[in-house]
Amino acid sequence: MVELAKSQLPEGTLFEVISETPKCLPDAAHILTMCSRGNGRLHIVNLGRYAVTLFDKHSGEGVRVWVDAKKLNDWPEIKSWMLKTKPKREQNSDALLDELCRAKEAVLSCSPVTVDMRRVRVKNMGAIALCPICQEPYPAQDGGVCRGCAGEAPYLGETVSDASPALSAVPVEEAVGKAALHDMTEISKDAKGPAVSAGEVIEQNSVERLRDMGKRHIYLAAGSDPGPDWAHENEAAVAMAKAMAGEGVRFSEPPREGKITFIAERNGLLVVDQDRLRAFNLAPDVMVATRQSYVMVDKDRPFAGCRPIPLYIRRERLAGALATLAGEPLFRVLELKPLKTSILVTGQEVYEGRVQDRFIPIISAKLEQLGAPVLSTEIAPDNRQAIVAAVQRMREAGAELIVTTAGLSVDPDDVTRFGLLDAGLSDVVYGAPILPGSMLLLGRIEHTRVIGVPACGLHHKTTGFDLVLPRVLAGAPIGRRDLARMAEGGFCLQCKACTYPKCPFGK
Ligand code: ZN
Repeated sequence: MVELAKSQLPEGTLFEVISETPKCLPDAAHILTMCSRGNGRLHIVNLGRYAVTLFDKHSGEGVRVWVDAKKLNDWPEIKSWMLKTKPKREQNSDALLDELCRAKEAVLSCSPVTVDMRRVRVKNMGAIALCPICQEPYPAQDGGVCRGCAGEAPYLGETVSDASPALSAVPVEEAVGKAALHDMTEISKDAKGPAVSAGEVIEQNSVERLRDMGKRHIYLAAGSDPGPDWAHENEAAVAMAKAMAGEGVRFSEPPREGKITFIAERNGLLVVDQDRLRAFNLAPDVMVATRQSYVMVDKDRPFAGCRPIPLYIRRERLAGALATLAGEPLFRVLELKPLKTSILVTGQEVYEGRVQDRFIPIISAKLEQLGAPVLSTEIAPDNRQAIVAAVQRMREAGAELIVTTAGLSVDPDDVTRFGLLDAGLSDVVYGAPILPGSMLLLGRIEHTRVIGVPACGLHHKTTGFDLVLPRVLAGAPIGRRDLARMAEGGFCLQCKACTYPKCPFGK
């Protein structure tokens, strides 16, 4: 097949190979052409057909060769072998080989093809990172840890929490007077906290209760020193919590049943580093679960928890998991700053008094709810110079945030965006994957932040403005990438009775 294809190509063509099956044919092509999977010149496109194509690597022009079923009738052994019409034990391999050697190209057909080069282009590996868990280099585009450490390795016992140190377990009745190794929890609807805590001496009167809990054996603290390679769940949980808690976050100590809860130190905006959250949870034997990033959290309320999975975790695994955090906290609760805000309404119809403004009360209420004082309000006509002048007055009065309304559509009379640009708007992001609120505009004029609220802010109780305002007040950066992440969950259900922020919008 390869020879037939080669003979149809012009002499000296620099070619690559497509095998339409992963079975046998790629090996032959590799040996006969020097095109291999490793050098990127042998492409296996599994169409399930026994066919091979050689093509010019620049133009895509080539020749496809296949086993032609119509030509097999003169070759019964080849036919029954190819079509599997005879059980293997009934095949005569000598006769088959004899037919193959005699038939050669007689059972093949070929035709010219043009390969769609986009379908066979070898993707660039991109940047290389060092996996924080196994310390081996891997393509950074695979994520925070390598695919092997992410659970794709085919080796038994590599990622499952099977290993544990030798611990001393004794029957419950022999445990009286000795200290327990870990918290033991009663599973009942009115149980609060552990029945026996780690380090607590087990009393005679606890024996029946422990038996009721289904315990027949108990791990004792004494005699259960697993050695320096292992960290107890409580020690590991504290190490994890210390590495994760950032500004505005505290955590509960000691751990309860190996688990630590994170608590907001103040009212504010929860910011979670989503990439490192995922990388950490890809590491074996540990977990952390949290409320969604960018939700508002209340002071003294829990929002996340972490723990190791086994009672003892290998120290190297704990270190690997902690390394995914890259020395930066995972959680922060940012304070919303009371930015002095000016509201700029644009629109000829409102300016001329034909239409009563409704934006100022709506926006003012939303700002006040988040503690941002309204410094001034203005209504400007659809005129670039007028918008520039209004923005200047607001900034001179000390506005730290300007919320401009309307005039952000594709309408030719809408000059708000151009007026803002004339006034020096920079770092502009226009358009967001949020419905309603897709015509959102974000930017700044020197140190004054600017939010452009599209007209849907009038008709809908909750829009993209409600999603970005807390972030702007908290000083969290919002770039194109941040907005792109808002796409998932950025579709409002438009419920009759809006329950935002308790609904899935923005989450
Ligand atoms: Zn790895």
